[in-house]
Amino acid sequence: MFLGLVFVIAAALCVFVAYPLLSTQDDGKAVLPVDMTPAADLKRRRMVVYDNMRDLEFERQAKKIGETDYQALRESYRAEAARLMAASQELERGSAEDRFIENQVAARRARVKAAAPANYACKKCGFNNPVPVKYCGNCGSPLPKA
Ligand SMILES: [Zn+2]
Repeated sequence: MFLGLVFVIAAALCVFVAYPLLSTQDDGKAVLPVDMTPAADLKRRRMVVYDNMRDLEFERQAKKIGETDYQALRESYRAEAARLMAASQELERGSAEDRFIENQVAARRARVKAAAPANYACKKCGFNNPVPVKYCGNCGSPLPKA
């Protein structure tokens, strides 16, 4: 009787402990921090590499690491930091596709501006309103009816 009770309690405890580990309710979508843009992620990874480099220096000063291992690790950290820096700069510069789109938008804006009729231009301030309006978009003075 007592042994049976112990067994039941042990079994219930096992289920209680194992349930979260075996549960498949998670749909695989891990919740990311809000600030996990690609740029922020690269910066975070670079900071981790800097921390590792600092720790490596401490370990060397404490003579916990051999000179050969130190040089190898230092070189790999430096290479990783350089790679992350280059990736950050590339991200800031934008991809060739982004530049193409920006150029197309600029060209189209120039065409629209060139095609805008001059009668939308304000006689007071000279601002060329892009669409027919009653009042100037720049100074607010009334425009003659088109
Ligand atoms: Zn005006």
